[in-house]
Amino acid sequence: MSKRGRLFIVSGPSGSGKSTVLGEVFKRRDRLYFSVSATTRAPRPGETDGVEYFFLDEERFDQMVERGEFLEHARYAKCSYGTPRGPIEEKLNAGIDVILDIEVQGAKQVKARMPEAVSVFLAPPDLRELERRLRSRGTESEERIALRLETARSELREAEKYDYVVVNDDFRRAAGELLDIIDRSEETEPSKN
Ligand code: ADP
Ligand code: 5GP
Repeated sequence: MSKRGRLFIVSGPSGSGKSTVLGEVFKRRDRLYFSVSATTRAPRPGETDGVEYFFLDEERFDQMVERGEFLEHARYAKCSYGTPRGPIEEKLNAGIDVILDIEVQGAKQVKARMPEAVSVFLAPPDLRELERRLRSRGTESEERIALRLETARSELREAEKYDYVVVNDDFRRAAGELLDIIDRSEETEPSKN
């Protein structure tokens, strides 16, 4: 029987660089599946439905919640976000590793349901740099940046609960560290399922 894939949770405050670091990880690794989440937030310029996210209205999102179609879901910065369960089970059963890019409440839910998942907290070098990155991205209003920074303060306190903490100082270096974690997990005991 082929080995089941492993589940990796990458979490951390908005603007810490999760998308950037994961972009680099996926450039260097083929056999890895990025879990596309559903969200009720509006697409940013350049985002495509079904690629970065499935963009849903609140009604459709609630319908998926009621049908139990999410592995986890949470409210974040006045919007809903959720991880569709189906594709993840499919990939893990096919022996393919899966990466989730989700915030801390969702990470907690996944770890409770699947304790064998490997959790990684991607931290910014400090709060000033986090603020600078959020502003430089230019995708949120000042009000939304303030809300994300406020949330970041409590999210940073959760870092110690993760299996690993990676500081995103240089994104290529951070991607290398994440790949090392993935490779190291492959060598340890396979998930019991
Ligand atoms: P997240 O997905 O965690 O919200 P992003 O990947 O969108 O964060 O990164 C936020 C901003 O910070 C982007 O403008 C990105 O280009 C920039 N950024 C990401 N990593 C670094 C880094 N190591 N050094 C400097 N800027 C970075
Ligand atoms: P953004 O709006 O900047 O794309 O994402 C905001 C936050 O939501 C980020 O911390 C991101 O990791 C998180 N997120 C994205 N998808 C999901 C998901 O499916 N579930 C949860 N709980 N958080 C998610």
